Amino acid sequence: MNAMSSINWSDDRVEQLKSLWTEGLSASQIARALGGVTRNAVIGKVHRLGLAGRASPSRAERPRVSMSPKVPSIRTHQPPAPVVEEDPLTLADGNFATVLTISDRMCRWPIGDPSASEFHFCGRSPKSGSPYCEAHARKAYQPQQQHRHKDKGRMAS
Ligand SMILES: [Zn+2]
Repeated sequence: MNAMSSINWSDDRVEQLKSLWTEGLSASQIARALGGVTRNAVIGKVHRLGLAGRASPSRAERPRVSMSPKVPSIRTHQPPAPVVEEDPLTLADGNFATVLTISDRMCRWPIGDPSASEFHFCGRSPKSGSPYCEAHARKAYQPQQQHRHKDKGRMAS
């Protein structure tokens, strides 16, 4: 078996590669010296080791471009663990509206810790056009008061 893909870069070989590279050998010369590796493998390894910029010393001061991608911080707008004063509606069977019993005709305001067994939903009949009942709809939209007046006639040109 002579798997091309499994190149064993042992520490010894890496050291050898480094010294040969700094001595100025070409990638193919190094590949031959090390044996069992291709020229491309040597080039790849040299790049991964950050040895690529040997060239002439005067040109060594290339600006190091950091390629680390900026991860956009995703801010989810989640209401901070809602604390509800209103008594939750009790369903006919004596239970609250849960993940299983919640329907479109119930207020979906979460009550309690979602990971706890007593977690349930408000369950009151919702305000029209809202997933929440009157009281909770007011709560839900309290933090953002930007759109007090919706400009209905305004369309993107
Ligand atoms: Zn509610």
